[in-house]
Amino acid sequence: MTNENTKQTQTNTSGDIQQTDVVVVGAGHAGIEAALACARLGVDTVLFTLSLDAVANMPCNPSIGGSAKGHLVYEIDALGGEMGRAADRVTLQSRTLNLGKGAAVHAKRIQADRAKYRLLMKHTLECQDHLRLMQAEVTELLTERDEKTGKSRISGVRTRLNESWLCKCAIICTGTFLDSRIFCRRGQLSSRSGRIAPRGTIV
Ligand SMILES: Cc1cc2nc3c(=O)[nH]c(=O)nc-3n(C[C@H](O)[C@H](O)[C@H](O)COP(=O)(O)OP(=O)(O)OC[C@H]3O[C@@H](n4cnc5c(N)ncnc54)[C@H](O)[C@@H]3O)c2cc1C
Repeated sequence: MTNENTKQTQTNTSGDIQQTDVVVVGAGHAGIEAALACARLGVDTVLFTLSLDAVANMPCNPSIGGSAKGHLVYEIDALGGEMGRAADRVTLQSRTLNLGKGAAVHAKRIQADRAKYRLLMKHTLECQDHLRLMQAEVTELLTERDEKTGKSRISGVRTRLNESWLCKCAIICTGTFLDSRIFCRRGQLSSRSGRIAPRGTIV
């Protein structure tokens, strides 16, 4: 999850220092489930996102489920996750795909109200005990060396605001736009960007 732009520093904290048990970086599908799972186990958790307005932001085609994805939604549901529950509450249209084929490839897929899904997920995160939702870009992973094993481990993260968050565990869910670029006008224009508005991540 790192690239050449990402700094990994031995714990050398400056600026404000905060502490938590778990840091989750990224509030897309993956980060939301990870953060909720930790918080629901009673673990103090901090979830970072680039923008509070883009929590649970879905692509231009806001579908949930479908071939090779529907079973994941059911598995998340079985494990007590949020995606399926939220999808049920914001469904605009629902159908089972591939009914003309064998049962192995039948797949439920819903089209969601994209704006409502975002608001519902943000509300769920905000109401969850043991969970804090923060708008800040994580720019560095802090590491420390274990004296016994000699191996390095992540000991925290630092944000662009120069806040250090020390943690026992960091879960990196920075998603689909890793150091991404967007090309317009047949490649004549390009800039660092992700889906519609969000920038690509450097962590
Ligand atoms: C062009 C495109 C079209 C797609 N279309 C569909 C579709 O129609 N239907 C479908 O089901 N799936 C689609 N997908 C796939 C779907 O978007 C992904 O599977 C899903 O969004 C992945 O979720 P995620 O949580 O891993 O990442 P993301 O949804 O990308 O979330 C990553 C999160 O991390 C945050 N973040 C990133 N870097 C940092 C940082 N340094 N500090 C703090 N926060 C950070 C971002 O703000 C964001 O909230 C599409 C993907 C792409 C690229």
